[in-house]
Amino acid sequence: MKKRILRAVLIEPEKILIEEVDKPLPQKGEALIKVEKCGVCGSDIHAYYGKHPFTTLPVVQGHEFSGVIAELGEGVSGLTVGKKVVVEPSLVCGKCYQCRSGRYNICDELRVMGFQAPGAYIEYFPVPAEKVIMLPDDMNLELAAMVEPTAVGVHAATRAGLKGGENVIVIGAGPIGLLLAQVTKALGANKVLIADVIDARLQKAVELGVDYIVNVQKQNLAESVHRVFPDGADVIFEAVGKEATIRDAIETARKGTKIVVVGVFPSDPKVQMGLVQDRELELVGTLMYMRPDFEVAVNLIYSGKINVSPLISARFNMRELQKAYKYIEQNKDTTLKVIITVAQD
Ligand SMILES: [Zn+2]
Ligand SMILES: [Zn+2]
Repeated sequence: MKKRILRAVLIEPEKILIEEVDKPLPQKGEALIKVEKCGVCGSDIHAYYGKHPFTTLPVVQGHEFSGVIAELGEGVSGLTVGKKVVVEPSLVCGKCYQCRSGRYNICDELRVMGFQAPGAYIEYFPVPAEKVIMLPDDMNLELAAMVEPTAVGVHAATRAGLKGGENVIVIGAGPIGLLLAQVTKALGANKVLIADVIDARLQKAVELGVDYIVNVQKQNLAESVHRVFPDGADVIFEAVGKEATIRDAIETARKGTKIVVVGVFPSDPKVQMGLVQDRELELVGTLMYMRPDFEVAVNLIYSGKINVSPLISARFNMRELQKAYKYIEQNKDTTLKVIITVAQD
């Protein structure tokens, strides 16, 4: 039995230490996960450059991961050693108003593994058992690492209140936008139009079966929308987080419709609140997910209702984490999701 294991620690901006540590034991109420695959997210890159406002270093990163249950701590029931799993990386207080009223994703004390709590770049990772979701035995663990970002899309779709038959606009064809476009269709949306400024990403959207694409640097969004949706869209998802894109969303929205704000805004945009008032628009925020969103995401990927493998741009071993981050930085336009292999045997 292996006693020493590898982990990757972000000790200071742009400096990752690969070190050997003792294999942890699961404490009471914990499951020890042998981590297999972990996806890199935009916010990981922000933290790597020391630009994530809510992360303090040093930290073990990694929150989009899959693995296998290696051991169970005392008092854990309902989980089986050897089962493939994904883990909801949110840690919540269980006591605040939101936690008590079933919206723990916006807990007052929310902490996320890989940011304010240790993450998954460790070969064996102890996590609270209630955060573990078992997977079908034949589920691919690389695709399972895409469950977390997919759950972001599922939760955003839930916030939009999709009932089926809607015409949808997604602004931003990054990993979350491309997942959202697929998720909304899988949940019954009629047609989806996706907008971006990078042709490579829009081509990926075509490959994934998104109905309409618009490069907003070459075409006017409102005109393009009018051509395919004469009555306008029923819901718009803003999945970029920039002033220009939220302004586009507000200007393009049909009167009386919802704009779901998925993008993370690093600075405060100037927006046309007059239009929000006059057109009875609804601006709806969305953050992370809850367990049912994770379960839907597992099903969508496992059943093949959404296709996540074309989003995987590159693969690296955990020993090369630094190299992976540099690769993402150097191939910004063409990189969607990079998967890190954490298991070293
Ligand atoms: Zn993420
Ligand atoms: Zn709470």
